[in-house]
Amino acid sequence: MSFLLPDYCPLCNNKSDPLLLICKKCIPELKPVEIKRDVLKGVIIYSFLPYSEKHRYILHQIKFEEKKFYIDDILCRIDFSFLHKYNIDLITYVPMSLSGIILRGFNQSRVIARIISKKIKKRFYPILGKSKYSKQSLKETAEERSQIVKNNPFYLKRSMYKRIREASSILIVDDLVTTGNTIKACINRIKDINPNIKFYIITLFYTEDIK
Ligand SMILES: [Zn+2]
Repeated sequence: MSFLLPDYCPLCNNKSDPLLLICKKCIPELKPVEIKRDVLKGVIIYSFLPYSEKHRYILHQIKFEEKKFYIDDILCRIDFSFLHKYNIDLITYVPMSLSGIILRGFNQSRVIARIISKKIKKRFYPILGKSKYSKQSLKETAEERSQIVKNNPFYLKRSMYKRIREASSILIVDDLVTTGNTIKACINRIKDINPNIKFYIITLFYTEDIK
């Protein structure tokens, strides 16, 4: 595996230690940062890396070069034990449309959610689906399709209703938070069937310029 690793750290561009992708100097910097977004008032959002010019490269490698080991390498060095105090019932992730998954092969937010799920020992579920072309989509049921309205391509999976209704808190995982509108759309869907659920958000990257 090591022969596939670049010999420089993707966070600081300095030469990395052998068998490490993220260098020893950068590992302590992988700390949760609390993020505020106007559209997500009252929702706790944690993120780790500013989506700066140098970090953009990492997300590009993950998304388009399918370098999933970047996610593994970064996340395995993050201590997620701070999440235990929130008593999270469910973990889920922001979905991609079927066409997006076919195009790209995998959903990086799902990969991140799976690793966090393992680390904090809570199950993760694909609660939400995303439809890009509601009329052409064959995968959703008629009821799921009926939820797809303008400006909100997300729908709840019928098989997950019971789980969502019984949960008191949920962690939504995404790769990047910019305005917060995508996460807001997911939250609104979940609130449709459980208005009292408490939301927590984790993203790997965040943009700094948006309040
Ligand atoms: Zn470094």
